[in-house]
Amino acid sequence: MSAVIEAEKLHFAYARVPVLEGVSFTVEQGDYVGIIGPNGGGKTTLLKVLLGLENGQGSIKLFGQPLKKFNDWHKIGYLAQKSPVSQSRFPVSAEEVVLMGLSDRRGSGVSVGELKQVHAAMQQTHTREYAGRIFHDLSIGQQQRVLLARALVSQPELLILDEPSTALDPESREMFFNLLGELNARRGVTILLITHDTGEVGKYISKFMYIDKTLVFYGTKEEFCHSQAVAEKLGAFAQHTIDHLHNHGHCPLGCLCGESK
Ligand code: ADP
Repeated sequence: MSAVIEAEKLHFAYARVPVLEGVSFTVEQGDYVGIIGPNGGGKTTLLKVLLGLENGQGSIKLFGQPLKKFNDWHKIGYLAQKSPVSQSRFPVSAEEVVLMGLSDRRGSGVSVGELKQVHAAMQQTHTREYAGRIFHDLSIGQQQRVLLARALVSQPELLILDEPSTALDPESREMFFNLLGELNARRGVTILLITHDTGEVGKYISKFMYIDKTLVFYGTKEEFCHSQAVAEKLGAFAQHTIDHLHNHGHCPLGCLCGESK
């Protein structure tokens, strides 16, 4: 199994206020990592540092290449928390938004090959039926799936998503997570996902990462439920709740560890 991300001793500060301290971990090909932790704990910053959008200290390798030398960006799809296209009122069609994901395009024309890639990504995310509609006229759930198609259009091997489900209704959320689960299980896409929906995604995720400035926990979801470090962070009450829910077969992590009855 090969490493997709190798992070070693990452440090980052905004105006000298430390946000990440000594964060080290490896993400292997095919992992589906759920990143959780308190608000302001540094999760979004960690993703930005990994992608070189913020300059941290420490060592980062993507697909075995040092970040500074890495230029295979088509291998990585990124769905940011606030996408500029969602905030702009420019009247672009859903199809044009997906086309923007082909970062190595040259010139203003669209080749047949590019169109085929766009259609394939829209097929995958069940968005083809509104390809010609103005992006802003779509529902939030539809927009989010179009943005996922944009992240997928270059057929990335690694997908990085920052709280993609926050604005979604329960039905769209389930559809969205099923889609990610399918991409990971069937196509072997490695996924790094910041989420608060631990219950919903728990069944798909293979590893949890708990970030609160430092890396509090990184391991399988089964290990997560029994982690002393997590129990100390979450407090005795939360740990008790998790245990209680486990015993009634409703682990909030959707975890399938042997303790569930
Ligand atoms: P999380 O994603 O876990 O909620 P963030 O990475 O967004 O955490 O933020 C970590 C800390 O960094 C927070 O205290 C936040 O206020 C601060 N922060 C985030 N972005 C900036 C910025 N651009 N400038 C200054 N401080 C920031």
